[in-house]
Amino acid sequence: MVSATRLDALVIGAGFSGLYQLHCLRDRLGLTVKVLEAAPELGGTWYWNRYPGARCDSESHSYCYFFSRELLEEWEWSERYPGPPEILRYLNHVADRFDLRRDIRFGTRVVAARYDEAANRWSVETESGERYLATYLVAAVGCLSAASIPDIPGLEDFAGRWVHTGEWPREGVDFRGKRVGQIGTGSTGIQAAPVIAQSAAHLTVFQRTAQYSVPARNQPLSEAFRRYVRSHHEEIREVCRSTPNGHPFRIAERKVSDVTAAEREAIYEAAWEKGGLQFRATFRDLVLDKAANDTAAEFIKAKIREIVRDPETARALADIDHPYAAKRPPIDTDYFETFNRDNVALVDLRADPVERITPSGIRTRSREHPLDIIVFATGFDAMTGPLLRLGIRGRGGLALAEAWRAGPSTYLGLQVPGFPNLFTVTGPGSPSVLTNMPIAIEQHVEWITGCIGYMRRNGVACCEAEPAAAAGWDEQVNEAANKTVLALARHSWYFGANIPGKPRVFMPYAGGLARYRAICDDVAARGYAGFVMA
Ligand code: NAP
Repeated sequence: MVSATRLDALVIGAGFSGLYQLHCLRDRLGLTVKVLEAAPELGGTWYWNRYPGARCDSESHSYCYFFSRELLEEWEWSERYPGPPEILRYLNHVADRFDLRRDIRFGTRVVAARYDEAANRWSVETESGERYLATYLVAAVGCLSAASIPDIPGLEDFAGRWVHTGEWPREGVDFRGKRVGQIGTGSTGIQAAPVIAQSAAHLTVFQRTAQYSVPARNQPLSEAFRRYVRSHHEEIREVCRSTPNGHPFRIAERKVSDVTAAEREAIYEAAWEKGGLQFRATFRDLVLDKAANDTAAEFIKAKIREIVRDPETARALADIDHPYAAKRPPIDTDYFETFNRDNVALVDLRADPVERITPSGIRTRSREHPLDIIVFATGFDAMTGPLLRLGIRGRGGLALAEAWRAGPSTYLGLQVPGFPNLFTVTGPGSPSVLTNMPIAIEQHVEWITGCIGYMRRNGVACCEAEPAAAAGWDEQVNEAANKTVLALARHSWYFGANIPGKPRVFMPYAGGLARYRAICDDVAARGYAGFVMA
């Protein structure tokens, strides 16, 4: 029997969440803590997603930790949106600065985590057979870390190479002279296609659902903007913390109906020129009212038709079946322009579905598309996937997969009834993927740290969400989604619809990060109401 490492707390994952959680639990509460990370390096999503064109959609000056003034003052971003190398440099800087690395074990994948009721502690096993015993278990595994490869018949016979964007090879992929097929046109595919097209001999984009996209307008940050950031850290932080999505800009107070059609078009035009997710912030009712949303949707569809020269390709790209931002809205660099290149073709899978993958390519109903490389930009088993693959069992040996058979149920996205002292950073039921993630992560990590600190000060051994509190919260998550147009895209990954057999439950909390923070603070202030503190 391998001897177990005993700890106060074990954190799984060394991305934005796990790094800060380690710092808080170890350096603020004085606990013994280790982080287990499957990858050989830190970085989480940014370690894995190194596909061509990968870049954060949040603006760099807000895509960072705000907890340390010194850290804010010593780091400067170079571009409007940071790419993986710069984000990884930042996270490595954070790890060095706070001496985090000595408590992280890399290349260590968790395969089982069981709650031992008699001992009130978690027993965690890794792929290589190591064992850890910890009072608190924090899953900091991210929301989009379980890559989904669709079950298309014939993949095993494909004679070329295939890759998933979320598990991109570190050495890169050489597309030169190759015929490439890309499946998927979400945020990832929309970033990847323009860059792949620049080096590939030919790129075929296989589109199942057409998507809106607004130009990102990435650029190096000017000295004037850097100066503004240097002298406005507090203000930027306060804007991020007070807006629904945690971004560094406010949503306009006006509604679409407050302006004339000409004014509205001018507002959209200016937002299109400015670029980025701020397009969504042009009117306060864009995600609340379908009629208001239609005006933005029509504006973007008209832009697509204007940019794309081939009328049939333009029609297929603009044939979008859901409201703007009801699926996660991408931003791009020359995505629609890419279809004007001679070496790029679009296949509309609604009209011409995939039949199978063959040794030499992809066969759709109408023809064979010969390919050397297939790129799966097909997304993730989002939010629940990363947690379910940890093999978590709670009270009475209950598997998390069993507890969530009808869909995830959590209290505040922080805890699951029956799984005491297990905390999830940005778990299902929290605003998470609807926000600028580091802002949501800081809030969760600080709340979890506060909760564990409270437990230790008050001699509380065990913290567990009450079933009634979780059921009540699940209802609130549903209600919040139903007040928005997000509920109208039932085929989005927010509902788990991209994974066959996954329960259709709207997973993130759409009520806004600021409101959510107030709810969490209130729960804590009331002695952790809704949690059994035993
Ligand atoms: P995604 O949004 O789930 O998109 C996956 C794409 O693959 C969709 O177009 C989907 O079509 C298609 N697809 C899936 N299975 C398919 C099949 N069997 N046949 C044909 N097409 C199939 O995944 P993603 O683009 O990787 O993005 C996931 C999330 O990651 C984003 O929404 C965002 O939150 C995050 N992300 C962020 C950034 C950033 O900040 N820069 C970049 C990339 C991703 P359907 O739409 O029909 O399902």
